[in-house]
Amino acid sequence: MQAAYDNNNIFAKILRGELPCHKVYEDEHVFAFLDIMPRSPGHTLVIPKAPARNILDIKPDDYAHVARGTHKIAAAAMKAFEADGITVQQFNEPAGGQVVFHLHMHVMPRMNGVMLLPPASRKEETKVLEAHAAKLITALK
Ligand code: AMP
Repeated sequence: MQAAYDNNNIFAKILRGELPCHKVYEDEHVFAFLDIMPRSPGHTLVIPKAPARNILDIKPDDYAHVARGTHKIAAAAMKAFEADGITVQQFNEPAGGQVVFHLHMHVMPRMNGVMLLPPASRKEETKVLEAHAAKLITALK
């Protein structure tokens, strides 16, 4: 059986404002911020405000809100980074590659011929993350 949602996971703390993040978008249902160990420049995470561990326990309507948010961020990321494409990924449970147990969609801008970095390869510099968040915020306007 699947573990229960843990209110003290990192992304729940970010949602409550207890941990910092580079926020790019927020509405009533979703929150989007930069991954601190980006696999490509502009790598963004889109999460539901509703508590959900992953796709196995999220309510369908909450998942639909995440899909809408992901769609919005993908379009903005294409523009902000003059990307050639976008990779969207979402992992479920440790066997599925999940590390943080609050559902999140990875939205990664891609350039032709450039591989993604492996997950958690390196922490990006704050200045770079700030500049990337600003680009996305502008593209979302
Ligand atoms: P996964 O659960 O495998 O989908 O991946 C979790 C993702 O969260 C990884 O890409 C991490 O780089 C990212 N991550 C972990 N801690 C933070 C944080 N405090 N702020 C932003 N991203 C994070």
